[in-house]
Amino acid sequence: MSQRTSHGAASGPKILDGKTLSRAVARTVTAHVTTLSSKINRAPGLAVILVGENPASKTYVASKHRFAKECGLETFDSHLPASVTREELAAVIEGYNHNDKVDGILLQLPLPAPLDGSEFVRMIAPEKDADGLHPANQGLLLQGAPAPRPCTPLGVMTMLDLAMSDITLGETTTLADLPRASLAGKSAVVIGRSQLVGKPMGFLLLERNATVTFAHSKTTDLPGVCRAADIVVAAVGVPRLVKRDWVKPGAIVLDVGINRLPDGKLCGDVDYDDVAPVASAITPVPGGVGPMTVAMLISNTVSNCARRNGVVL
Ligand code: NAP
Repeated sequence: MSQRTSHGAASGPKILDGKTLSRAVARTVTAHVTTLSSKINRAPGLAVILVGENPASKTYVASKHRFAKECGLETFDSHLPASVTREELAAVIEGYNHNDKVDGILLQLPLPAPLDGSEFVRMIAPEKDADGLHPANQGLLLQGAPAPRPCTPLGVMTMLDLAMSDITLGETTTLADLPRASLAGKSAVVIGRSQLVGKPMGFLLLERNATVTFAHSKTTDLPGVCRAADIVVAAVGVPRLVKRDWVKPGAIVLDVGINRLPDGKLCGDVDYDDVAPVASAITPVPGGVGPMTVAMLISNTVSNCARRNGVVL
């Protein structure tokens, strides 16, 4: 991890390293898997459904699979051809809904046309929703009730905990070492209002008592809106949109965006080199929010397993 300063500028921002933080999640999840396995006589199970040959989807699925295995989960795989019919895909989901060894179902999105991802997400049993995207679980999020939360926003919240703590991540750090940040009195702006990231992100921030503004493509004076915030979350899909003069000195900047540039390199929605000098903490892209999304999917699956079996972790 990089050096930390609470003010940015002088000695540089705290770099929020998602890869290292995801190791802390893995240690916590592995311990929970051990506890659960001894109580229910099986490991928590994750079913991964991939449709078609989209290279990015294949990479994401492989990393989710690897993380699950590392933490001791049992995994189930269905790799279906892009030509799969609606009925065939529905039958695979239904099979996992009724398989008692499966606690989390991941349907990798996007699905190839003409399949509509949201239709199939709705077919997943809400208590087995690993991504936290089922409408029932999004409703429970609005109500503040226990349910799987969307993975990317959940990962961002853990990065925010890291940003606001004084701990240095080490080889034995677990999530138990990371205090939950209080956001009372803090203002946060979320740029983006998608079902996947922006909206649930805003509600997780609100749940922690932040004063939240949602910004989007119809927002006027986006730089001014961002400049008023203590916490900026960018989930837009526009390369390097957020510039230095959009960010209040000392603000925490969390970049969800993953954009591929014409030269093949990845970048975020934040102009990292421009913004880092004024931020107190910032996520890099790649290596920031991305690894945390994977970690939270596995964490959600283990939490689903505990909830389904009445085990308190
Ligand atoms: P999305 O569904 O396309 O939503 C983008 C949002 O950004 C929309 O709400 C849109 O506003 C807003 N927007 C677009 N252009 C804008 C502009 N110029 N100014 C202000 N707002 C603007 O995208 P998403 O699924 O939320 O994903 C956003 C980004 O995060 C993408 O780069 C995606 O690849 C990345 N992502 C990363 C992870 C991860 O694990 N790190 C996970 C998921 C997504 P309107 O609603 O007004 O159209």
